[in-house]
Formats: sequence, structure tokens, C-alpha cells
Amino acid sequence: MSDFDYARHRMIEAHIIRRGLTEPRLVEAMRSVPREAFVGAGLQEFAYADAPLSIGQGQTISQPFIVALMIERATIAADDVVLEVGTGSGYAAAVASRLAQDVYTIERIPALAEEAEDRLQRLGFGNIHVRIGDGTRGWPEVAPFDVILVTAGGPSVPPTLKGQLAIGGRLILPVGSESEQRLIRITRTGATTFDEVDLGGVRFVPLIGKEGW
Ligand code: SAM
Repeated sequence: MSDFDYARHRMIEAHIIRRGLTEPRLVEAMRSVPREAFVGAGLQEFAYADAPLSIGQGQTISQPFIVALMIERATIAADDVVLEVGTGSGYAAAVASRLAQDVYTIERIPALAEEAEDRLQRLGFGNIHVRIGDGTRGWPEVAPFDVILVTAGGPSVPPTLKGQLAIGGRLILPVGSESEQRLIRITRTGATTFDEVDLGGVRFVPLIGKEGW
């Protein structure tokens, strides 16, 4: 076992399983994605701290516990099609791709999107599709989605993303001010009906776009 494998194993025990996220498919997915490959060379030694890390361009790779929480609460089935808004490093897309049929992910900063796409290809993730653009507009050609994960915080729920949820689909996103948000899960229960659950307080970078800040 390499030092990184050992550190990943320990992080998952301490920050994922012990904090109540025990769903076996999720734990296996987290175990199979090398987070050290998603951070810059100078930050690899911190890859298994349960903390966000800089990925350049003023953006961050999310804290592993929050990635796991969003994915577990989304209950991703093997034939689900997932949309992620905010590709960043590609790490959350990589974890979700181990559980889903396909992951479509949108990043507004071209340099990050290109870097993530190269990295995901190099690591052999064949079911992730990366696009540069404003993710608050969704990905209409592929919609409806079973799951939509938004990894940046906006002032309100983008109506376009609600509209791109399948019936029964789950949208998980941070909503609030630019400095702190509530993580919300919205389930589409019918053509015009939605249930909403508050999953707790979080801090994400801002969601910048037509239906964001
Ligand atoms: N999921 C990422 C990961 O695993 O590394 C972390 C993402 S980071 C916390 C949030 C990302 O959302 C940033 O890269 C930011 O540029 C991006 N972002 C913000 N607003 C966006 C928008 N409207 N559309 C697409 N990406 C957006």
C-alpha cells in the first residue's frame, strides 16, 4: 500500500464512515478515486486532510466530507445520469462517475475545465463529459437528469436547473449569501411540484452566472 493509499484509507475511516456516511457504494467510490491526482503538485501532501484546497483561478477542490455528503444524499443509482455544475478539479465528478451511468459536468473557467478534462481522460474516467460554460443554464440537450449537483453557492435555486430534473430527480445545491449557505436537496415530485430538505450549513465559492450571482 502506498503512502497515498494509506492516507486515503484513513481519511475515509475518520471523516466519511465515522461521520455517518456509510453507504457501501459511496465508500467504495471514494476509495477508488486518488484525490492526490486532482490537486497541484505542491499540495499533494494535504490531499487527505478533510479540507478544501486551492486549485488555482481563485477556486477550490471541495472538502471530501462535503463531496461524500452531496453524493450520498443524492442517492445515485447505477443507471442514473448526473449533471454537475462546477467541475473545478474534476474530483467530485470522478467520485459520482463511479456510481452513475454518465456524468455531465460544466465549468465556467476554461483553464480549469481543460485541465480537468485532460486529467479525467489520463486517469481513465470514460463516462464523464466536460463542457465550458455557465452551468446555471444546465445542459438542455441531455436533460432531464436524475441528479444535479451544484458545487458553487448561489443566491437562489436556478429555475432552469429545477426544470431539467427528471420526475423523482434530486437537485443538491448550496443557497445563501456569498460567504455562507445552506445545502438544500430538492426532489421533483411531479411536473410542477418539488420537495425541499435542508442538509445543513456550508461554505462554497460563488455560483457566477445568469441564474447565480
Ligand atoms: N466540484 C469541484 C471539484 O471536485 O474540484 C469543486 C468545485 S469549486 C468548489 C466550484 C467551481 O464552480 C469553480 O471551479 C467555479 O469556477 C465553478 N463555477 C462557478 N459558477 C459556475 C457556473 N455558473 N457554471 C459552471 N461553473 C461554475
